[in-house]
This record gives sequence, structure tokens and C-alpha cells, in this order.
Amino acid sequence: MSGAGSAGRTHPAPATIGDPLIDTHGRVHRDLRISLTDRCSLRCTYCMPEQGNEWLAKTSILTLDEIERVARIAAADGITTFRLTGGEPLLRTDIVEVVRRLARISGPDGTPVEVAMTTNGIRLPELLPALIDAGLHRLNISLDTLRRDRFHALTRRDRLDDVLAGITAAAESGLRPLKLNAVAMRDVNDDELVDLVAFAIDHGAQMRFIEQMPLDAGHTWDRSRMVTQDEILAALSARWDLAPLPGRGGAPAARWTIDGGPDTVGVIASVTAPFCGDCDRLRLTADGQLRNCLFSTTEYDLLPILRGAGQPHSPGAEVLDASIDGMLRSCVHGKLPGHAINDPSFLQPARGMNAIGG
Ligand code: SAM
Ligand code: SF4
Repeated sequence: MSGAGSAGRTHPAPATIGDPLIDTHGRVHRDLRISLTDRCSLRCTYCMPEQGNEWLAKTSILTLDEIERVARIAAADGITTFRLTGGEPLLRTDIVEVVRRLARISGPDGTPVEVAMTTNGIRLPELLPALIDAGLHRLNISLDTLRRDRFHALTRRDRLDDVLAGITAAAESGLRPLKLNAVAMRDVNDDELVDLVAFAIDHGAQMRFIEQMPLDAGHTWDRSRMVTQDEILAALSARWDLAPLPGRGGAPAARWTIDGGPDTVGVIASVTAPFCGDCDRLRLTADGQLRNCLFSTTEYDLLPILRGAGQPHSPGAEVLDASIDGMLRSCVHGKLPGHAINDPSFLQPARGMNAIGG
């Protein structure tokens, strides 16, 4: 990737489709989180307001063709995993087709991308066979509590049984590793951490606890209420011997073996032990905004590019694809070394987690 410059000096040629997405801190980007909708069947207190949410305009939501187009270029640039999220990704009526189209994409060396999904699980019993047939590789399912009254209070919907049915369907499928995610919350579910791990082990799944982040639409996050990684590990250590697992790479969760393994538990400690130095993730919101961090307040708008010109096979297609590639590179280039949650100047992004894509 070099070119002849003036006065005998050489300058790197501008990056093009097929070059890796490397930011100014040397991080190579391999994971694209694609939010498919900001709508949801639950209203988790740490994510969405009970009512009065300002939904994204329906006309701005990316179509299947638009998502596929961005995904193809991202894969050519070295993205190896697409994680579908939301809002609740299973609320997209074309979800099976989204998975099918994305699972057909390969990287530059011909290796197919991995298609993973983070879901509340509610629609899995009806959709999982079709999703697996379409090429879904991996599932993360959110489960914050095993108690029905708590679940109702926390999600403002009485749907624990539906989530548990979704987890059973996933456990019975061949998709592994299966991960269950819980946001640990003081005086809400912090007395259930051991029960949740035991439940996950019973279902052949890996439990992962997430430190609560300042991303709720109501902007009510309170650091003093947050359950920290250290507290989570202390609670679990009272029941099991935990040993740290090396080899985390770019994964958000640090992991520990339970009583020598093979079962493990993970903690995503975005607040008390940020892992920004190894972050390899980019995000695409349901309305076509590229983001280089969950906590970023800057977005890179793909909608005018996607909708401004060209159809997939028109003469303008190459120009359009180059513009999408350019926007991916601008987004990567603008990535800061780390988030600033722990800085007094931190500003919470305007979007809630459901509209960013967790
Ligand atoms: N609806 C799907 C689900 O709940 O799995 C996918 C979207 S949800 C936004 C993705 C993940 O983000 C979930 O595991 C959820 O628990 C997590 N999450 C949402 N708001 C959060 C917050 N303020 N802090 C930490 N995790 C959060
Ligand atoms: Fe919906 Fe997931 Fe947000 Fe809960 S965390 S409200 S399930 S998007």
C-alpha cells in the first residue's frame, strides 16, 4: 500500500476497500455490531424509559439491502463477526433473511463471517430453527433475574417464562458457546449472582455479568449504585474457586474458570476495568449511523450515502461502495484511545442503549 509522491518522497496510498480497518492507536477492527431496530418487547430500567421514548423514524431504518451492502464492504475490510442487536433484533420481521444474507458473506480470504446475535430470547422458540437454517452461529441471551416478580419490575413486562423458554430452545440447539448476560444491580439482583451462574451451568451456558453503564435513556445511572467486578467476584468466590483465564484478546468479558473448569463465568467491567486498549468493535445503528464506541457522542452518517445515489448494480455502485468504505475508515480514524466514563467531563451519549445497539 504505497505510492510515488512528489519530490522523490513516497507516501502511503489512500486506503481502499480490502485494506484493514486500523485506527490511529493500532487497533485492528474485526467486529461490527449491527443494530436492527430500536424497538423492544421489554423496557429494562437500565436501557429504556417506561414510556415516552422517542423512536427512530421508520423511514430512516436501514433496509435489508442497505445492511447487506455495508456488511459486505466491512467484511472486505477485515470484519470477521457481525453481531446483530438492538433494541430487540428478533422484532425485525425480516430477521431470518437478514441472518441468511449476512451469513453468506465471506472475508477476503474466503472465510465466511460469523453471525452472532444478542437477544432477550422471547421470540427464540418460534424463530430459532429458521435462524440456524439461515446460518446463525452464536447467541447471547439477556437474563438478569430468575424471579418472576423481579423480572416484571425490572423489565416492566411479565415475560420471564417467555425468556426462559427461549433459553431452553437455545440450550437444546447445537449453538455453542451459549452466553447469558446479566447486568448486576445493587439491591435488585445482586443476591442472585450465584443462582444465575448455577442456572447457566445447568443449561450448558456461560454466565456473564455486566457492570451497569451510563447508557439508560432516562440518564439515571448512579455510580454509587453500580455493582463492581470486584464485588461480583467476591460473591461468586464464596461459593466456587475462581481462576482467571488468560487469552482474552479483544473480548469484552474477562473470564474465570469455576472449580477448575470446564465451566467459566465472565465479567464485562466497562466501568472499573475498561478494555478499550484491545477494542476491535464498530457499531452500525438501525438508522445508519456508524459509531466507534458505545460512549461516543460522534456519529458517521451512512444514510445520505446509501440513499443518495446508485442501486446495487448501477454504474454508480462502485462509487457508492467506495464512499461507504471511506465512511468506515473515517469512523475508525476518529476513534479515541478510550472512553471517558471515569472522567468528570464525561457526557452521556444522547441515544439510549436500545438505539445504540448493545
Ligand atoms: N434486546 C437485546 C438484549 O437485551 O439482549 C439486545 C439489545 S441490549 C441493548 C444488549 C445488551 O446490553 C443486553 O445484554 C443488556 O443487558 C445490555 N445493556 C443495556 N443497557 C445497559 C446498561 N445501561 N449497562 C450495561 N449493559 C446494558
Ligand atoms: Fe430491550 Fe434489550 Fe434494552 Fe432490555 S436491554 S429494554 S431487552 S433492548
